[in-house]
Amino acid sequence: ARRPTFTAVDPATGTPGRIYDGVTPDEALGIARAARAAFDGWRRTGFPDRARLLRRAGEVLRERREELCALMTAEMGKTLTEGRAEIDKCAGACDHYAEHAQAMLAAQPVEMGGPKASVVFRPLGTVLAVMPWNFPFWQVFRFAAPALMAGNTGVLKHASNVPGCALAIEAVFRDAGFPPDIFRTVLIGSSGVQALIEDPAIAAVSLTGSVEAGRKVATQAGAVLKKCVLELGGSDAYLVLDDADPEAAAEVAAAARMVNGGQSCIAGKRFIVLGSVREAFEQALARKMAGYAMGDPRDEATKLGPMQSLEARDGIHDQVRRSLEAGARLLCGGQVPDRPGAWYPATVLTGVRPGMAAYDEEVFGPVAAIIEAADEAEAIRLANDSPFGLGSGVLTGDVSRGERIAADELEAGVSFVNQNVRSDVRLPFGGVKHSGYGRELSAFGIREFVNIKSVVVQ
Ligand code: NAP
Repeated sequence: ARRPTFTAVDPATGTPGRIYDGVTPDEALGIARAARAAFDGWRRTGFPDRARLLRRAGEVLRERREELCALMTAEMGKTLTEGRAEIDKCAGACDHYAEHAQAMLAAQPVEMGGPKASVVFRPLGTVLAVMPWNFPFWQVFRFAAPALMAGNTGVLKHASNVPGCALAIEAVFRDAGFPPDIFRTVLIGSSGVQALIEDPAIAAVSLTGSVEAGRKVATQAGAVLKKCVLELGGSDAYLVLDDADPEAAAEVAAAARMVNGGQSCIAGKRFIVLGSVREAFEQALARKMAGYAMGDPRDEATKLGPMQSLEARDGIHDQVRRSLEAGARLLCGGQVPDRPGAWYPATVLTGVRPGMAAYDEEVFGPVAAIIEAADEAEAIRLANDSPFGLGSGVLTGDVSRGERIAADELEAGVSFVNQNVRSDVRLPFGGVKHSGYGRELSAFGIREFVNIKSVVVQ
């Protein structure tokens, strides 16, 4: 079979970059089987040895911070400031699991009044990770750090537009001194995933990406009865209650919307505002969003770089256009600039209602949708009126009211009050409904890819 090739295109300019040779389907299977063979030795290593290597991987990340940032910028347009934060966050996750994995997976004795009983946590084998381009390092490390500490080995199929990042991640583990084949990258297209899932070398799958990809991969994994964890899309709603300070609420809302140029699963996408604060919130949000000026992603001061690709940019603009045609009002942005590259400005739509693209669909770019609600009950109903259930937020002057709504009312895996949703290695992360199932991060995440085994000794 012919080798596929992968070319990253610089989204800031539209210029194609280096061409990478991928692997054939047979070569991909060979790599997966090598990772499976390496598992037999890896699972018998002790936690201190794995922790030493993972800490070293964190150091390698920090040493290479600038070159890895440059790679992300060249392949998917990430701004320098966000790139640095991403690499540091990955290194932090390595340190966290190096320190805590052993305790998280310590045997748990069970009192049975006779036999000695315990629950132990044993690795599953080789886990296939299918990952997206938007946080090319973080998505992979939040999977890999716990999975490897638990004693699994990993095979990465990264998004096709970030081949350099995919190989750089493999190199981090290799250069940190991990034994061969503990963590491998396969440069293949999405059509090559099924053969890997079906191969006995692969024990389980983790996918972060779109609903469509999640549905396909879960179906394929289901057919061969392999476990999968799915982190899919989101259309996070933030309630702006009548007791919120509009200025402070708009500050959180803009930060929530503009994470990674709006290309984040947990970006705030729908802002559901009670009537009494709508006008003040609209004005404040439009002002704050307009403050995210488009600029060179390689410049430290830039807060909004290009979208990941021209196709993605055109798709976002089409969602804005369709929402306006259906009656939404434009408060700022909404114009495609006349220059090469995948640029799209910070945009605010108001008067958004069911039936509009900005309400019904996930908008994966810098477009905030304001939706008006008559009262708290209607706001909650609108927030939950979504196929997604990833993150959510409440912006309010009354934190106990906010906490009650966050904890009891919002259908989401994560709910923040008066702060924008962010992932944290200490907290479980994941969604409900079409945002997927399973959890990453914290002790819950490391227990996804283990055999929770009961051992009873009479
Ligand atoms: P995508 O198209 O689903 O791509 C994600 C990964 O899945 C890529 O590696 C892609 O490979 C692969 N893939 C696509 N179709 C596949 C198929 N039929 N079978 C096997 N693999 C397949 O996602 P995207 O549009 O680039 O990323 C944005 C989406 O990811 C958004 O919906 C976002 O909300 C979601 N996301 C979720 C989280 C979370 O934690 N919940 C985090 C980040 C992003 P190719 O590149 O080769 O097509």
